[in-house]
Amino acid sequence: MKPRGEFPDYYTCLGIRFGASLDEIKKNFRALAKELHPDNPQTGSKTAFQKILKAYQILSSERDRKIYDYAYSSFINSQIESTRQSLLHKEWVNEVQNQNTYSIPHSRIVFAHSVTEYAKIGLMRKGYRMKDRRKWTGINYDVEIRIEPDEVSKILRANIPLTVRKLCPICLGSDIHCSSCGGNGSYKSSKNLIIDLLPNRWKNGQILELELSRYRPDKLTHFKKKKLKIKLSIL
Ligand SMILES: [Zn+2]
Repeated sequence: MKPRGEFPDYYTCLGIRFGASLDEIKKNFRALAKELHPDNPQTGSKTAFQKILKAYQILSSERDRKIYDYAYSSFINSQIESTRQSLLHKEWVNEVQNQNTYSIPHSRIVFAHSVTEYAKIGLMRKGYRMKDRRKWTGINYDVEIRIEPDEVSKILRANIPLTVRKLCPICLGSDIHCSSCGGNGSYKSSKNLIIDLLPNRWKNGQILELELSRYRPDKLTHFKKKKLKIKLSIL
């Protein structure tokens, strides 16, 4: 089985827009093929040529394109839409109405593995593994939510972007010849994990530990991480 990769974007690959006509597809493919064909001593590339050939084969076949387009639109939608999840977990999370919540800016949702965090303490040099970095920095969480003192009394919402794997909706991972996922069975994407913090239900420095299998956005999608430790800090 091939390694599971990103969802293949055949439209971008051929430099055309979604919904392009067969003529446009042919025209762009021919131009690119001339440039990338391995026989071209200047700009030829076997790998790049195989990629555009695959894209051309799928998009120029009426049947394959229909199947691919279906998965493509679902892939695009999953990227655009920020998932709203209702989380009912212990005391500190609750389902609340959107208009009552205050969204914490992205800049104050900080991943512990972010390079700057470690660079500051000089642990970015080679030879240190992530585990060692954690040990030496004392960082025992995955992501920190930084809260301003005047936000403490509000209902706070944090959108935490996480990597997900989405099972191919066409073949459900069972067809190595599937034209929508290229036989990969699934593809990588990103989803927001949404958590709401109610006033007086959490403490400064508290670390929330979430079992991510409980927060799957839908049946075809699961978070890459199993557990997420979220630190709540008042600035
Ligand atoms: Zn598939």
